[in-house]
Amino acid sequence: MKFNKQLENIKTYEGGKPIELVIQEFGIKAEDVIKLASNENPFGTSEKVVKAIQDNAHLAHMYPDDSMREIKEALAHKFEVQTTNIIMGAGSDEVIAFAINAKANKYKKVLTARTTFAMYDIYSKQIGAKVIKTPSHQHNLDELLHLYKKEKDIGIIFLCLPNNPLGECLKKDDVFNFLKQIDDNTLVVVDGAYQDFAAAKNPEMKIDPKELIETFPNTLYLGTFSKSYGLGGLRVGYGIGSVEIMTALYKMRPPFNVTTLSLKAAMAALEDEAFVAKTIENNFAEMQIYEAFAKSNKIDFINSYTNFITFTFDSKQNSTDIAQILLKKGIIIRDLASYGVNGIRITIGTPEQNSRFLKALKEVLTT
Ligand SMILES: *Cc1c(COP(=O)(O)O)cnc(C)c1O
Repeated sequence: MKFNKQLENIKTYEGGKPIELVIQEFGIKAEDVIKLASNENPFGTSEKVVKAIQDNAHLAHMYPDDSMREIKEALAHKFEVQTTNIIMGAGSDEVIAFAINAKANKYKKVLTARTTFAMYDIYSKQIGAKVIKTPSHQHNLDELLHLYKKEKDIGIIFLCLPNNPLGECLKKDDVFNFLKQIDDNTLVVVDGAYQDFAAAKNPEMKIDPKELIETFPNTLYLGTFSKSYGLGGLRVGYGIGSVEIMTALYKMRPPFNVTTLSLKAAMAALEDEAFVAKTIENNFAEMQIYEAFAKSNKIDFINSYTNFITFTFDSKQNSTDIAQILLKKGIIIRDLASYGVNGIRITIGTPEQNSRFLKALKEVLTT
């Protein structure tokens, strides 16, 4: 069967390997497998969230409130914007798709850093939009601006701040100076999936959605409940932007796109800031152990503002081989070879998971 031609150059998104597969393939006991591959919350999810799901389980037969009023009001309060500035998605992933569908096409290109969140590329190619990438792997605003001016027909620019899968971030002031040079008719998406981590590490990296969208009405801020809030399995994300942008994005949104229980869970998650604070604190305390390990073992790493760290190797080591050997030991991490990077991305886990991982990596590197 022939499918749309633009599908030919799409690589299917490969998420972190599920724990079940590792159990099956390598005969490792479930309790011996650790997954540090998908930037999930190592502490699971808040008790308050579990309770909210249980308490609302009897509502499973009902379609969700499609206005999503409750969660939008809570987010509007948190970010000091209006509910009319907010759209909910089944993960912020879905909002990325809305934005691309609303603003890119065969004639309107998408501009990104070379190595960034894979879904920008995949959704763009699905609709036949060309993706222009910078020569540098990490975000480089000079290169982005140069390409923006050179190409002329850029419909959307994606800035992933901080960036997945590399972990770097840009300073807010630099981002705002960049945005001043972008035309009103170009949509700039600031993907803030890890913004709470970045803001905790260095306030200069913090981008406030209200200030962003009020200063630059052509911007769309994205947030998610999947990382610091620990709701990856429930698929809740959001976009914050001008009413004009929202009006366009709402035309792309399928009805009932976030489930009743996911919405209840997100409400409960917002009320447990202590859980998020503990997550972030553990993250950066443990990250120091990773950095110290890298330094003492002469491994290069990227200074990370996220809940993962990227180790890069010289030509003597091969990231795919390393990932495969770790897998056989029951440790799932992310190989970055498919991004053209000889490196691995490791989600920061609990102290126990991290010490087991580092011990295993040491073994791999010395044998
Ligand atoms: C995890 C992630 C998202 C969105 O995840 P959802 O689970 O779809 O909300 C978006 N952007 C980046 C960069 C991410 O890492």
